[in-house]
Amino acid sequence: MNMQFFRKLPIPQEIKKQFPISAELAALREARVRELENVFAGRSDKLVLVIGPCSADQEDTVLEYISRLRTVQDKVADKIVIVPRIYTNKPRTTGDGYKGMLHQPDPNSPPDLLRGIISIRKLHMRALAETGFGCADEMLYPENHRYLSDLLVYVAVGARSVEDQQHRMTASGLDVPVGMKNPTSGDISVMMNSITAAQHPHVFLYRGWEVQSQGNPYAHAILRGYVNKHGQSLPNYHYEDLKALAETYAASGLENPAVVVDTNHANSGKQYLEQVRIAKEVMHSCRHSADIRRLVKGLMIESYLEDGCQKIGEGYVPGRSITDPCLGWEKTERLIYELADAL
Ligand code: PEP
Ligand code: MN
Repeated sequence: MNMQFFRKLPIPQEIKKQFPISAELAALREARVRELENVFAGRSDKLVLVIGPCSADQEDTVLEYISRLRTVQDKVADKIVIVPRIYTNKPRTTGDGYKGMLHQPDPNSPPDLLRGIISIRKLHMRALAETGFGCADEMLYPENHRYLSDLLVYVAVGARSVEDQQHRMTASGLDVPVGMKNPTSGDISVMMNSITAAQHPHVFLYRGWEVQSQGNPYAHAILRGYVNKHGQSLPNYHYEDLKALAETYAASGLENPAVVVDTNHANSGKQYLEQVRIAKEVMHSCRHSADIRRLVKGLMIESYLEDGCQKIGEGYVPGRSITDPCLGWEKTERLIYELADAL
């Protein structure tokens, strides 16, 4: 084999034992999961906002951002459930570039997976302990999920992973709502098949074990726009897209029809400032159609302390994204209040 095996890393059980979650924090997380389940099952009509930077690059900066969200959450608690994004592993279009805190706990230093595992657990743990938020992460590597499984309240399966069987079967065994993104090609049937797979129970091979999953009734759709054969970004958040998804869901027999609209990525064509308009357009579609309002459970917004993005290295500004461009704090805060007013 053409690779070196450096060292054996601790398994999730060992890391959890070394960095355990307290009973109090476990109860806090549990309550947050129930609140999300109520939304995804239609028992609550609050709007979920999965919001935060494209990648969680620096512990203190991300915690500063999330503590600002805390203040906003308390003011809109009757209408909005905020789930901060702490995305610690990044899928890369070509495979090159910053792969997230799991790989590079310091974005300016070479990969260190042991420090990475500890850093991502510490960050999710500190967020819960210091702000009371259970957070979201992308399940980029299903076999790593259990390093964080007692801390997360929401999981997304990304556009590049959604057709993969191991992701689908692992999603079927998660005890939190899991959003399946449409693939980068935009094929809605791939996303629907993925939701079906995640809602059903499976027996499969997982980290050397034969396991049985229960099926996840809160598996749902995330629309993130798509890229056509010419490489152009095209949106799928418009009224007609949502109406069509409601009809597809109605014909599918799936449990808890639900969509989270991702306002960035191919929906904005990474014109991150457009996220404000896109979020408001989705709210408008909700007001226009009761079917759409029932289907739309939330928005995913890429937001950080500073507008835009930057390259890693010299002149680094803390709180400005080093992956996809994000909406800065003032615009984010204003948008959340405007969304609450519109509900
Ligand atoms: C993301 O949410 O930052 C992301 C990588 O999304 P997608 O899988 O839709 O590209
Ligand atoms: Mn992103």
